[in-house]
Amino acid sequence: MLKDQDRIFTNLYGMHDRSLAGAKKRGHWNGTAEIIQRGRDTIIEQVKASGLRGRGGAGFPTGLKWSFMPKQSDGRPSYLVINADESEPGTCKDREIMRHDPHTLIEGALIASFAMNANACYIYIRGEYIREREALQAAIDECYDAGLLGKNAAKSGWDFDLYLHHGAGAYICGEETALLESLEGKKGMPRMKPPFPAGSGLYGCPTTVNNVESIAVVPTILRRGSDWFASFGRPNNAGTKLFGISGHVVHPCVVEEAMSISLKELLDRHCGGVRGGWKNLKAVIPGGSSVPMLNASQCEDAIMDFDWLREQRSGLGTAAVIVMDQSTDVIKAIWRLSKFYKHESCGQCTPCREGTGWMMRVMDRLVRGEAEVEEIDMLLSVTKQVEGHTICALGDAAAWPIQGLIRQFRDEIEDRIKAKKTGRISAVAAE
Ligand code: NAD
Ligand code: SF4
Repeated sequence: MLKDQDRIFTNLYGMHDRSLAGAKKRGHWNGTAEIIQRGRDTIIEQVKASGLRGRGGAGFPTGLKWSFMPKQSDGRPSYLVINADESEPGTCKDREIMRHDPHTLIEGALIASFAMNANACYIYIRGEYIREREALQAAIDECYDAGLLGKNAAKSGWDFDLYLHHGAGAYICGEETALLESLEGKKGMPRMKPPFPAGSGLYGCPTTVNNVESIAVVPTILRRGSDWFASFGRPNNAGTKLFGISGHVVHPCVVEEAMSISLKELLDRHCGGVRGGWKNLKAVIPGGSSVPMLNASQCEDAIMDFDWLREQRSGLGTAAVIVMDQSTDVIKAIWRLSKFYKHESCGQCTPCREGTGWMMRVMDRLVRGEAEVEEIDMLLSVTKQVEGHTICALGDAAAWPIQGLIRQFRDEIEDRIKAKKTGRISAVAAE
């Protein structure tokens, strides 16, 4: 288990002062100029050595992503954009950072921007995060007043401006290129990649888009050392990590733990265990709604990191752990997600626009048991035609939970169809 002194975030929540004075007492903004004076290459090398992988869901190595930014300006400005449009169902970890530790994020933004030769950073926060926006804006204002932002930020010799921009409630604006479109004042529709944002991002300029947690851990990594951060978790899965646990546990929470903790330890130690005991567990979605669920027997041995979960054909994603006990109608749970993805599809590519509708309509019948058994394979085939054939990851995100459901609970789907046909059930309400 992670010791309190090794927690970057959550040991402080509920008993600390989020103002600049409070942040300074906890060591933030301490020696920031000295960190910056280590130079760009050293900072990027240290972030690479820490093993930090992007905390927004995809797990792309953060230091490597930073290294794609041009070292010398070709006349275009460079930008850092922080993705705070946290909208993945089940996910609320970045909200905790912005609500309780805004200075950790702001200091990280300054250091990361310097490392990438960016004099400006935009934080794109989801529209519904009103209190978090207020907390962040208050902290940004404090930093300008204290000389930590603006000209010669934190006496580092680097001029740096930070802007907070809020979205208007579209899930797709959390996709990095849709987010950039939205920041530019356009409709939030994903762009084709490549080019990746480092080549052509905001206003066609070199841009790195990073998640809130990825940036907020940077000052602590650079203070405590890459080796310290890399000492947690299995190889290639380094660091501490925020997990947001919801659903059928005794105490849902957001908690920071060492990467590669077992699911059992995570739930038992921090959440009072599964409601009704471990034997009452039916399934777990381990990484936000986009990743396929695990069944109860996989959960027995589950290791919460990128590689182990990928080997199980699931994923760590946003580390939003959604726990479902035996009382859960898993077909209905995934049907609800299908409705969500259908609603949030931006509609610009055909497999996603049409496929999400198809998948939702078949799920509609499956949840009521009003389908033919053959439709299960037809649905699976539709998911395969969507997966990997779209501009952005929303198509995959709509397909994968259904694939997981069929893989893990085909019997339950078939039983429902048979029960409906034989009149053993009248209907399962889909609302
Ligand atoms: P991705 O794998 O396409 O990209 C991840 C990051 O790496 C991006 O910043 C991308 O630009 C960069 N990258 C990847 N390959 C690159 C290359 N060859 N050269 C340069 N840069 C490269 O994934 P994605 O679409 O950004 O993210 C998908 C994930 O987002 C899902 O797995 C899901 O878990 C997560 N997600 C999170 C939320 C949330 O609320 N946090 C919401 C929806 C989805
Ligand atoms: Fe839009 Fe869906 Fe295509 Fe993404 S996959 S660009 S959300 S239509």
